[in-house]
Amino acid sequence: MAAGPGEAMAHSAFDTILVLDFGSQYTHLITRRLRELNVFSEMLPCTQKLSELKFVPKGIILSGGPYSVYEEGSPHVDPAVFDLNVPILGICYGMQELAYRLNPDNVIAGTHREYGHAMLKARSIDNHVDRLFEGIEESMRVWMSHGDKLAKLPDGFHTVATSDNSEYAAIGHQSKPIYGLQFHPEVTHTQNGTALLKNFAVGICGCKQEWTMQKFLEEAIAQIRHTVGEKGQVLAAISGGVDSTVAAKLMKEAIGSRFWAVLVNNGVMRLNECDQVKKDLTEALGINLTVVEASDRFLDGLKGIDDPEKKRKFIGGKFIDIFEEEAVKIEEAAANDPAKAGKIEFFMQGTLYPDVIESLSFKGPSATIKTHHNVGGLPARMANGQGLKLIEPLRSLYKDEVRALGRALGIREELVMRHPFPGPGIAVRILGEVTPEKVEIARQADHIFISEIRKAGIYDQISQAYAAVDPSRAVGVMGDKRVYGYIIVLRAVTTTDFMTAEAYNFPWDFLQRVMNRIVNEVHGVCRVVYDVTSKPPGTIELE
Ligand code: GLN
Repeated sequence: MAAGPGEAMAHSAFDTILVLDFGSQYTHLITRRLRELNVFSEMLPCTQKLSELKFVPKGIILSGGPYSVYEEGSPHVDPAVFDLNVPILGICYGMQELAYRLNPDNVIAGTHREYGHAMLKARSIDNHVDRLFEGIEESMRVWMSHGDKLAKLPDGFHTVATSDNSEYAAIGHQSKPIYGLQFHPEVTHTQNGTALLKNFAVGICGCKQEWTMQKFLEEAIAQIRHTVGEKGQVLAAISGGVDSTVAAKLMKEAIGSRFWAVLVNNGVMRLNECDQVKKDLTEALGINLTVVEASDRFLDGLKGIDDPEKKRKFIGGKFIDIFEEEAVKIEEAAANDPAKAGKIEFFMQGTLYPDVIESLSFKGPSATIKTHHNVGGLPARMANGQGLKLIEPLRSLYKDEVRALGRALGIREELVMRHPFPGPGIAVRILGEVTPEKVEIARQADHIFISEIRKAGIYDQISQAYAAVDPSRAVGVMGDKRVYGYIIVLRAVTTTDFMTAEAYNFPWDFLQRVMNRIVNEVHGVCRVVYDVTSKPPGTIELE
């Protein structure tokens, strides 16, 4: 796994709660909630050897999981977890695992599954609830999802909260800061769940609530300078999207023009996009940017390719070729510039935390855990071919944190809130063969659609929107004449994680207005349809 300075920096500079993932669908919510509390949290698979950790966490949380602890082959935590002498909180499977570790007889299959809400009551001893429940109403609705249960209290523990069905809804060690919860405090259905996590992280583990993007920014700049050194130089391919723009601005703040950004115009960018990105990055943000005009090389090569995978592969491969040619030129320029005069040693990439999590999360006892790999092949080629080291300054951040960092860096709001855009650009928004004519139609239609969305003030409510070209043609009538034109497919979705999505519910008159403008203003189009497919079964892009 490549460790970027972003990663090394976050847990070395911020108090960190380590979340060990046993495969629950909610594990990432634990890290999210903690970060919302301004406590840094990092997730690793439950199989992590604790002696190999590169940092000392202030506390450890064991997540839930779909297995039963007593089953053969179910995952178990490194027993060294008890020797680290930091507070531990087990959630559901995590609690069962703690109990099982102490004595396998402690956990059994329950007689009935408990799924959904339960009323929890914190237990008072000498008029005091446990500090895990401090400042929280004694009675609260919590969310349960389990079939197994504790058969008895593990030795040395006492009950700190009960529910009607779970005698041991929350347990705590009598003298050590070790806790177990049968319910899930990380889901929003649990009342005061965040307050409970705060009591654990801040009250019990003693974490300072310093995880803010302003502080991250200072730390990241210091760390990048440290990694790159006085003379070192960094190269990057950027797209003009949020992630690469924020990462590029961060690099610029850290090392000025020793950071080299390259934007390749692949001929399938949106209307005026290349110029706009150039303006934003150079004029507004002061980034050292080279634009490579390569539209013809892409559009020529795309002739005759109608298979989506082949299109993607062609664009990806051509992109790498062009980027490498440019890298050689930049190396020469950099070596001859006495003000810079260092070698280009690093290649920067805007990888985000969800990609890291995806490659780390625990997929089951028999499944191998994927190691982090970067899609697109560019980093691998840069690393192997040119001996460049990878630097990933956003590796610790979620998307909304990247946006907050962008604001802290003074990047304008419209850019910070931009919808994601695929690497192969509008080539995957033109079904079948890409031709200059269809690219032009897709650009015009998309521009109308997005402008109307902005005008209606709903851009930020939508996660991704675009207009695509369906090259099968339909018959229409315009000015009493028969026309035969392409079909434009409008797509707009809302999603939180892009894994599942729903079509956006536009007002009817809005769709009518967009349809009207497109058929009137875009030559060669005579029909407009709205794609209402959710994901699954549809994907967000058409190809
Ligand atoms: N599989 C365990 C049970 O059913 C744990 C479930 C969970 O962690 N949500 O009790």
